[in-house]
Amino acid sequence: MAKRIGVIGAGIAGAWIGNQLRDAGHDVVVFEKSRGMGGRMATRRNGDFAFDHGAQFFTARTKEFRTLIESYPEVVAQWQPRLVTLGDVEKTFKREWFEPHFIGVPGMGSLCRELLMDVPVELQTEITDLQQSSNGWCVYDHNGRKFDCHWIISTAPAEQTRKLLPFAPLETVTYAPCFTLMAGLETRPTFDAAVVRGRALEWLAVTASRPGRPARPGIIAHASGDWSREHYDVDQAKISQWLIEELRELGVAVGSHVSLHRWRYARVMKPHREPYWLDGSNRVAACGDWGIGARIEDAFGSANLLLPRLIDLWEGKP
Ligand SMILES: Cc1cc2nc3c(=O)[nH]c(=O)nc-3n(C[C@H](O)[C@H](O)[C@H](O)COP(=O)(O)OP(=O)(O)OC[C@H]3O[C@@H](n4cnc5c(N)ncnc54)[C@H](O)[C@@H]3O)c2cc1C
Repeated sequence: MAKRIGVIGAGIAGAWIGNQLRDAGHDVVVFEKSRGMGGRMATRRNGDFAFDHGAQFFTARTKEFRTLIESYPEVVAQWQPRLVTLGDVEKTFKREWFEPHFIGVPGMGSLCRELLMDVPVELQTEITDLQQSSNGWCVYDHNGRKFDCHWIISTAPAEQTRKLLPFAPLETVTYAPCFTLMAGLETRPTFDAAVVRGRALEWLAVTASRPGRPARPGIIAHASGDWSREHYDVDQAKISQWLIEELRELGVAVGSHVSLHRWRYARVMKPHREPYWLDGSNRVAACGDWGIGARIEDAFGSANLLLPRLIDLWEGKP
């Protein structure tokens, strides 16, 4: 029998779960608190620039994820940057990547948007309360709107899932935060991407090197998890100044359109002991990168492992 399923989050885990359960004939609704789909696969447009300020790329190490991205060639492209190492190294050196690295086009979240093409998605809808009912769950958003669902699947980061479902046993999952500085450039650097050693910054990418992005060069600069944690509550104008100064020391002159984003839950440091959480008697489940690791492919993998368990449960199989 078709179930009404509320999926919290329109990142890659929620998009894949939503897509598959709808194809299986269920009545799915996805709730997403932000204005767009993709979650941490995110692109911010500012003037002539497009900054992918969250995840930088995805690899496809499993057959299942390779099959998925091969099914959507119009929204996935391979990125082959000139990659170097900068920072506290004796001299700048070129690095090689030994496997293909992909990005979403025209934005990082395009694959999620495509997966959710035929699924109802309630954007700008933050779920703030979940209450059990005789038939499943009453789901409330930040405006007090109520939705009735037979089942709830949360794909929010583990701590956010626990705020809604305090009995979810995800308390040991930990994340590193990340400050992302975005800025237009005066001149394009000689590299397209850089791993930075021994500094506050750990990663740089030149926007114009990325397929499907505008030609005007901008820089995406990620601070390391340790540095971001240490400076998490510092005034953000100060953080921007420090990171701009560090970029200058690394030979990158920042121009216009400077902005900063602070990710509270950027990369999973300690994953959960299981790839997902399923509580059949309470009709609730959760999945996301935290089930496996710190990558887009892990979030997909977690959702993809949960799916057959849910279907078996609903079909009465042990
Ligand atoms: C700065 C940064 C760099 C990264 N670099 C890489 C990289 O290079 N390669 C890589 O593979 N991975 C990278 N990652 C990690 C990768 O982005 C994640 O592992 C992956 O996108 C997680 O997908 P998800 O679906 O599990 O969660 P998310 O993408 O976080 O999706 C969860 C969604 O739930 C929504 N949500 C949360 N709470 C609620 C609520 N109460 N109501 C409604 N909606 C809610 C959120 O808005 C979000 O859209 C990076 C992440 C960051 C932040």
